[in-house]
Amino acid sequence: MKFAVTSKGDAKSNALMHKIRAYLLDFKLTYDENKPDIVISVGGDGTLLYAFHRYIERLDKTAFVGVHTGHLGFYADWVPDEIEKLVIAIARTPYQIIEYPLLEAIIRYQHGGKETRYLALNESTVKAVDGTLVMDVEIRGDQFERFRGDGLCISTPSGSTAYNKALGGAILHPSIRALQLAEMASINNRVFRTVGSPLILPAHHTCMLKPVNRSDFLVTIDHLTLLHKDVKSIQYRVANEKIRFARFRPFPFWKRVHDSFVSS
Ligand code: NAP
Repeated sequence: MKFAVTSKGDAKSNALMHKIRAYLLDFKLTYDENKPDIVISVGGDGTLLYAFHRYIERLDKTAFVGVHTGHLGFYADWVPDEIEKLVIAIARTPYQIIEYPLLEAIIRYQHGGKETRYLALNESTVKAVDGTLVMDVEIRGDQFERFRGDGLCISTPSGSTAYNKALGGAILHPSIRALQLAEMASINNRVFRTVGSPLILPAHHTCMLKPVNRSDFLVTIDHLTLLHKDVKSIQYRVANEKIRFARFRPFPFWKRVHDSFVSS
């Protein structure tokens, strides 16, 4: 089996990365940074986001596992003290795979520019370059509302504990194939009106955002922020692709939520 190890880049994560690599080489596994069967990400949830995007072309062939060197993570749920146990478990393949849904974003441009497609593990957000974001929101082809405010956040179930949560969105179990649309400071008064609640859309529903008065936007895909000009529409739906996690022991999602947000 071929493996790769990625690190957040700090001294603690780097030391752990080298240790894991040495252990797995001792077990006669092959180190292959380009075509790994398993990627061990050392750092935090943010580090796993980077690893996901680094290996985005191999999602059907690569499984991820996260070791955290800070506080408890959602994607990174192994602690440094457990790495001997983890290494033995990896070396003893096969392991169980669990899959989480991803978000697909397709950005189309005015004047017939080539569309761009992205996959997000946590979420995509849309904000105006300056001033208020004004977007028509269509759900399943029907006009739903005209949004005015700071921005919109469209998240995956596993991303629901990240930015979405800070916006008052619900926490969704990752076994639910859905996307969530959460508002950032919408303008609501007698003249302007939005639903004001986060919406959860099933996998067969599409959410389309259409610009009203401007066409340049800041669009984030997980940790990446990109300026898109001459935007005609941004389409979101649950992607066909999934992220695969290597599972070596039960660690229920709701326990991770409890330990992260209620008490550890
Ligand atoms: P960052 O600003 O350095 O870190 C964002 C924080 O979010 C880190 O503490 C990270 O955990 C945590 N996080 C990432 N994914 C998570 C998840 N699925 N559930 C719970 N917490 C999660 O940025 P970054 O490391 O490059 O990560 C980008 C992410 O930051 C975005 O995808 C977005 O979700 C999040 N973000 C949140 C807010 C907010 O809450 N107001 C604002 C902007 C962006 P670790 O410390 O373990 O890496």
